[in-house]
This record gives sequence, structure tokens and C-alpha cells, in this order.
Amino acid sequence: MTTVDDGLDLEQVADLLRHRYQQTLEQIATQTAETRDLRQAAHQDTGDMADAGSLISDTAQHDIVTAALSEQAGRLASALQRLQDGSFGTCGRCAQQIPLARLEIMPWATHCVTCQQHAEKLR
Ligand SMILES: [Zn+2]
Repeated sequence: MTTVDDGLDLEQVADLLRHRYQQTLEQIATQTAETRDLRQAAHQDTGDMADAGSLISDTAQHDIVTAALSEQAGRLASALQRLQDGSFGTCGRCAQQIPLARLEIMPWATHCVTCQQHAEKLR
């Protein structure tokens, strides 16, 4: 096993992961509250069709963002799960250590770059 010396250790990446998960949950809460406000505003009769239209598209935009955040939270949660069972940072295909620099950017990565590229080619 080779250690990648890029100034990071697994514990730092784990902290980052927990932090990002918390942040994502907070963003979801904010988005949900804003969407609720927008929906309420959309229900109030403004008598202005253009306004109502933009409120509806704002709401749709919020729904897209919320969905993306939920997906992100799900990936982060499963990464936290892998952190608990000790498989975090290990490639699911070749069992090599995933470089910490990669985990720093994508803490939910389950495969090393080589295996990820291999999987993408198969798609
Ligand atoms: Zn691999």
C-alpha cells in the first residue's frame, strides 16, 4: 500500500465530509423554507399574470436545486456510512486506496479514477 503524500490525511477528509453533509442539510432546510414561501406567494392572487408566472418558475427552480441537494446529501450520507464501516476511501472495484486529493473534491467517490473511467466507458 502506498501512501499518497498530498498534505491531507483521512481524518481531515472525514471532517470535510461531515462538514459538507451538515452544510448540505442546512441548504436543504433553507431551500425548503424558501420554496414554501414562494408557493404561498404564488397562491396569493396578485392579479398580475407575469408575476405569477415568474413565481411558478422560481418555485420550479427551487425544486430542482432541492432535488440536487437531496441527492448530494444522500451520497454524503452513504460516504459517512462507509466511514463508519471502514470502507471509506477504498475503491469498490480494485480495493486500492482512493487518492485523498480526489476524496477532498468528491468525498462520495466510491472508485479510484481508473475504475471510474472504466465504469464510464462501459455505460
Ligand atoms: Zn479502482
